[in-house]
Order: sequence, then C-alpha cells, then structure tokens
Amino acid sequence: MPDLAARIAARIGAKNVISDPALLAAHLSEWRGRYSGQTPFAAFPTTTDEVAAVVRLCAEGNAKIVTQGGNTGLVGGQIPDGEVLVLLTRMNRIRAIDADNDSLVAEAGVVLTAVQNAAAESNRLFPLSLASEASATIGGLISTNAGGVHVLRYGMMRDLVLGIEAVLPDGRVFSGLKALRKDNTGYDLKQLFIGAEGTLGIVTAAVLKLFPRPAARETAMVSVPSPAHALALLHRLKAATGAVSAFEVMNRLSMDLTVKNMPNVRDALPDARVMAVLIEFEAAHAHGLREAIEDALAAAMAAGEVETALIAENSSQARDFWALRELISAGHKPEGAQVSHDISVPVSRTPDFLTRANAAMEARYPGARIVAFGHMGDGNFHYTVMQAVGADAATFHGAALSQDVFEIATALGGSISAEHGIGVARRGDLARFKDPESMALMRALKRAIDPDNRLNPRALFE
Ligand SMILES: Cc1cc2nc3c(=O)[nH]c(=O)nc-3n(C[C@H](O)[C@H](O)[C@H](O)COP(=O)(O)OP(=O)(O)OC[C@H]3O[C@@H](n4cnc5c(N)ncnc54)[C@H](O)[C@@H]3O)c2cc1C
Repeated sequence: MPDLAARIAARIGAKNVISDPALLAAHLSEWRGRYSGQTPFAAFPTTTDEVAAVVRLCAEGNAKIVTQGGNTGLVGGQIPDGEVLVLLTRMNRIRAIDADNDSLVAEAGVVLTAVQNAAAESNRLFPLSLASEASATIGGLISTNAGGVHVLRYGMMRDLVLGIEAVLPDGRVFSGLKALRKDNTGYDLKQLFIGAEGTLGIVTAAVLKLFPRPAARETAMVSVPSPAHALALLHRLKAATGAVSAFEVMNRLSMDLTVKNMPNVRDALPDARVMAVLIEFEAAHAHGLREAIEDALAAAMAAGEVETALIAENSSQARDFWALRELISAGHKPEGAQVSHDISVPVSRTPDFLTRANAAMEARYPGARIVAFGHMGDGNFHYTVMQAVGADAATFHGAALSQDVFEIATALGGSISAEHGIGVARRGDLARFKDPESMALMRALKRAIDPDNRLNPRALFE
C-alpha cells in the first residue's frame, strides 16, 4: 500500500507515518507475547481532523484499520493483522479542565496517569486506577470500558465519561463532547463507543468526570478462612465505614508465585492459608476513619471472618501491600502453560464460583494449580489454571477447560469477560455464551455504522 501511505503522509506529515519494521515492532505484539501481527504502515495523526482524513483516505483506498492506544489490551484487539495501524498516542493533550463542573477534556492518547495528575493539580480526583495506568490511554480505556480497583466506589469507565468525540468509519466526526450530567435527548450515543473495542469509531477525545479528592485514605490487608468469609467481611466493612473503595482478593498460590518470581515483593501475610484481602478506604476527612476500620475488623475477627489483620502504618507500607496485588499478573506468567479467564458473577455468588470452578478443575486436571485473584468486590475474578508441576503438557486442553469455567460462571448469572473485553481472543466464546438476540443486535449495529467492516474488522465477531 505505498500509494496510500504516501497520500496519508502528504496529509498528516511524513514524520507521522511509519513503515520501518524496527520502529513498528513494539506495536505489533503485546507484552505477554500472546498476539503478534503485521501492518503495511502505521499512521500517528495529531488532531481529530487528521484522524478523519486518515479514515477517509483508507476508505477511498479500501483499506481496513486497527486502532491502538497504549497497547496494554489483554485480548489482542489492538494488534493489526494486515490492516493499517492508526495510533492515537500523538493526540495527547488535556484540552480543558472545568473544576467547577468536575470535568476534564482529554484527547484519546493521553495516558491515565497524566489524567490523574491533571485532576490532582486542580484538587480533584479521577478515580480510575489499574496496574497498566502508566501506559493505557483514555481512548483504549474507553474502548475496553476498563474497570480496575475502584469500580466498587466509582464504577467502570462507562460511568466516568460525560462526552465523546469519535471519527466514524466513513470519516465523519461524531461531536459528542458534552459536559452534561443530564441530557435526555434520545439515545445516549456516546455509550455506543464505550466498550466497542474500536469497532464503531475511533475515539479522539472525551469529557471525563472528576470527583473530590479524599482527604483520608487507609489500606488494610487481612487473611480470611474462606471466600464466603471474605464476602461477609465486604458487607460488614461497607456498612460499618461507608468508605470501602477497593476490595481485592489474592489466593495463596497467587501470592506465593508473585513473591517467588518478582524481585522485591513482600508477602505481608505469610500465614494466610486460603486467601488475603486488600482493602482500601477513602473518606472526606480523617476523623474517626481509622477507629471505624479497627472496630469493624475487631468485630470481624470475633465473628471468625478474619484471621489476621494489618492496617498500613504509612503510605510506604500501603504501597507494599498494593505491589503484591499489582504484580500478580506478571508474577505467574513464568510458570509455564496456563489458561486465564476474566469472569464476573453477581457479588453474592463469588464464593459459589470459586467452589464450583476449583472442584471442576481438580476433577479435570488433578493437582491443577489455580491462581485466583482480583476484584471480588465487583464480582470479578481473574482465574488462571496451570497444570500440576511435571504434568504432561499434551493433556492440557485450554479450550475445554475454558468452556467449563465459562459454563460455571454463566450458570451463576455471570459473564465470560468482566473487564478485558473480547478482542480476537474471545470471539468464539462470545458467540457461544451471549444470547442470540444480543448478538443479532450487536451485528445490526456494526452493519449500520460500519457497513464495510472498516474498523477493527476482526474484533468481537467471528
Ligand atoms: C498489567 C496490566 C493490568 C491491567 N489491569 C486491568 C484492570 O485492572 N482492569 C481493566 O479493565 N483492564 C486492565 N488491563 C487491560 C488494559 O490496560 C486495558 O484494556 C486498557 O483499557 C487498554 O488501554 P490501551 O490504551 O493500552 O489500549 P490498547 O491496548 O491499545 O487497545 C485496546 C482496545 O481498544 C481499542 N482502542 C484503543 N484506542 C482506541 C481509540 N482511541 N478509539 C477506538 N478504539 C481504540 C483497540 O483497537 C483495542 O481493541 C490491564 C493490562 C495490563 C497490561
């Protein structure tokens, strides 16, 4: 496609079109090495008009497009396989902050930490927080409807977006950059682009919701005898403090492997036999918060819900607690063949999920090693199954194993993908587990908005 590359270079500048394989390499595979691909060239537009021009030129040249932000997506949707790669990373300005409206306008390529910092400079909080926040971009976070550790208190990305600007598959611009909390004028069209994984438009900017900065923050780490006790603890702490902002669980193996494989990570609760819970609390004032937490944890211990409890004495200890949680994904990666899932069930069914899934895996693969961790307060587990050490890799059937895990989650009213999305990784599973009417509606929307299947043509649908 040299002609198309040249036409795009003439429109957005030669320095913003790259075809050198050495420079492209970082964009053609993801960090775990699970997905890799190819592209004739990558375009780095710097304005919304340039994105629109790139899309129009691709449409004229009948070329397909894959959009990429920070390349931290976990389901392969951002990796091209022959499509033109459009990167939003050079659209990285915070366009405006309106502190009195508790809102901020960011371009799609701004990384999450930059939004958090800009909000903080205006004495506000942008609450989305996840381990990839130094690289993940606003466009990617919107397109995957990212979750993270504060969903319990603030919701997912979908709940944090007031307005969106996006380039449609024919190059027109959807100008939905409204900063309104109330706007009942028909369909809420911005929601179409949130969680669409780049299949309906290229997000170029968004109006994001800001919140007051909590004056007090406390972090606790406790061991619990079972997931059912963790669930009881969640509700006890919510009721007693009104301040729970994160409730993250880590099973024993997840902590052991992270300490084993990651340098400088410490397990503060080596006695936790079954599961540790990392809990964060936020409040508008410090007065009484720590006492309320101590009283609630003491009552939880008396009720047998908690075995050991630690409350961070300072921010450095709190960071230590979080480091263990945030490095779990990287911590079990070196352990060989493994199959990962990102499922959700109603919060009330979280203990049932673990009981049923662990039993099914043990029956299928005796001695299977299970890493279960994540956002139990949202009903969301990251659930990875590894073979027993020394087991025959040829007997490890990932697809059948995932089918079991998904059947257990959906039987409990759950979802096969809680926050990572579908991408190319879970297209077959989506077709199997989503109800046919929803699939038909999704296909109808895609056809109506992108009749030529121009944008992210391999994502979501088989
Ligand atoms: C260590 C680690 C921890 C993570 N933790 C979490 C977590 O707790 N919660 C969670 O939800 N996710 C998590 N993720 C996944 C990932 O960070 C999110 O999916 C993130 O939203 C992706 O942002 P990105 O900019 O890297 O997007 P990319 O990876 O570049 O793209 C992701 C998808 O969005 C599309 N896309 C990107 N930009 C645009 C745009 N401007 N317009 C239209 N489509 C676009 C891509 O085509 C692709 O389909 C984690 C990832 C890592 C590596």
